[in-house]
Amino acid sequence: MNDIDRPFEYQLLIKQILKMPLAQASRRQIVYRGVERFTYPQFVERVNRLGNALDALGAEIGTRIAVMDWDSHRYLEAYFAVPMLGSVLMMVNIRLSPDQIAYTIDHSGAEILLINTDFLPVLDAIRDRLPKLRAIVVLSDNGETPAVPGSVGGYEALLAAASAHKEFPDFNENTQATTFYTTGTTGLPKGVMFSHRQLVLHTLALMSTLMMAGLNGRISREDVYMPLTPMFHVHAWGFPYVATMMGMQQVYVGRFLPDVVCHLLRTEGVTVSHCVPTIMHMILNAAAAKDIDFTGWRVIIGGSALPRALCEAGLKRGVDIYAAYGMSETCPIMTMTQLRGDILDAEPDRKEAEIRLRLAAGMPAVLCEVRVVDEVMNDVPHDGIAVGEVVARSPCLTPGYAGNAEASAALWRGGWLHTGDIGTMDADGFLRIVDRVKDVIKTGGEWISSIGLEDIILTHPAVFEVAVVGVADERWGERPVAFVVARPGVTVDEDAVRDHVRAHADTGAISRYAVPDRIIVVETLDKTSVGKLDKKLMRNRATALLGA
Ligand code: ADP
Repeated sequence: MNDIDRPFEYQLLIKQILKMPLAQASRRQIVYRGVERFTYPQFVERVNRLGNALDALGAEIGTRIAVMDWDSHRYLEAYFAVPMLGSVLMMVNIRLSPDQIAYTIDHSGAEILLINTDFLPVLDAIRDRLPKLRAIVVLSDNGETPAVPGSVGGYEALLAAASAHKEFPDFNENTQATTFYTTGTTGLPKGVMFSHRQLVLHTLALMSTLMMAGLNGRISREDVYMPLTPMFHVHAWGFPYVATMMGMQQVYVGRFLPDVVCHLLRTEGVTVSHCVPTIMHMILNAAAAKDIDFTGWRVIIGGSALPRALCEAGLKRGVDIYAAYGMSETCPIMTMTQLRGDILDAEPDRKEAEIRLRLAAGMPAVLCEVRVVDEVMNDVPHDGIAVGEVVARSPCLTPGYAGNAEASAALWRGGWLHTGDIGTMDADGFLRIVDRVKDVIKTGGEWISSIGLEDIILTHPAVFEVAVVGVADERWGERPVAFVVARPGVTVDEDAVRDHVRAHADTGAISRYAVPDRIIVVETLDKTSVGKLDKKLMRNRATALLGA
């Protein structure tokens, strides 16, 4: 029986996320670069127009529609209009190589492409590798639409010509809504997929998890939201859906430039954002941020471990920092910092305890079951020490990788999604990520956490950024090597950094095997397309350097 014929089985569809702000007539705005502003009724009208325009281009249930844009109001419109038609929104990672972009667009089966003029040169280079593409819509910031082969016109012109009214269809909540590709640090990028039901539940779960976070983390409709993780990366972690459902003021920065971000933070009064650690680091150290008082800005940091030095630097500047853990495959939120009064009230050093809670990956999000298990799927003791693989189960996880049965089977084993991360769980239910299975350094019969070692090296005053990787070693199996970037105007003394780590080993905080043999001073660290440390590349670099 078709579920939609059973009214008591109300289907969870993305269009319901839009109902609340509209019904309550939020007077807040969607702001693009501080230049364009739309009220919620205007925004919803534009979603309707986009729906009608795509309808006219033949978008149906299951049609793949790809987007290549910076973070924008247009992207948000596509977040809604595309899945609300029953079509599938494909978010192209614009930072991948042209080869990978061609592969991901073609593999997704995209027939329609919405593309910002900035990316037209990429399209030009790969156009002949996209045989399924039959319509191109050009997104432009200056109102001019260049002639592009296969273009059906400019985005604004299509919207202007379309009706402002639309009844989006009802369908089964398990209909696929979105797809995007993992950042592909190993092998070809893999496509993950999420349904309407999953995104609606993720929106509710993320919102309630944020509301439980404690202290000032509690978000409300009065917040001003600005994403600092790109919208192509796991639906900007699902936050735009939460912000829209709550009718918040929303700010989209366009192309990411630290100066523009700092300007908008101040002029728009942003109160909630999220980003990977390297972006937070970049903003705190941007020239434009020098005189900014960040008090009242709550930032959820995820995607990589939150280094203690960064957390403390942010708190000192007034940023209220929270950590979150997730991956592309998990929609993404699995855990988040919870500043629990029941724990903090009982601690003699409340300040230190608070930092500890902020630094952990956090507690499982609402609806998400997280376990740390050994090889035979038994839970490791919840003592904050025993390590195991993090596995998860929730209604929001990808069912697998598009067209890749082998990788899907490796992801899902025994009914649990295997993250490939090593973690610990403590008695209070806090998860700590020790390392990725592939980044942990196995030396002298011990496991060294590259993240733990980075945390220590970052507390050396001359160190600005650091990445630790393991390189093969005949005698020890692997040895840690640290790439270090010096603080501006400072020189890093390799021996001093090594002594700094050794001092920590002497206190027993880390193993003496963790003291790196080599500390390589570099100008910049290799980063992935979403700004995380690219350890695979740095491992290869270290191996080449040391082998030479
Ligand atoms: P990629 O694997 O290409 O980086 P993802 O964005 O899916 O793409 O990354 C997910 C991975 O990022 C996780 O499996 C984990 O290793 C790491 N990660 C995410 N959040 C955290 C966190 N809070 N602490 C430590 N590691 C994290």
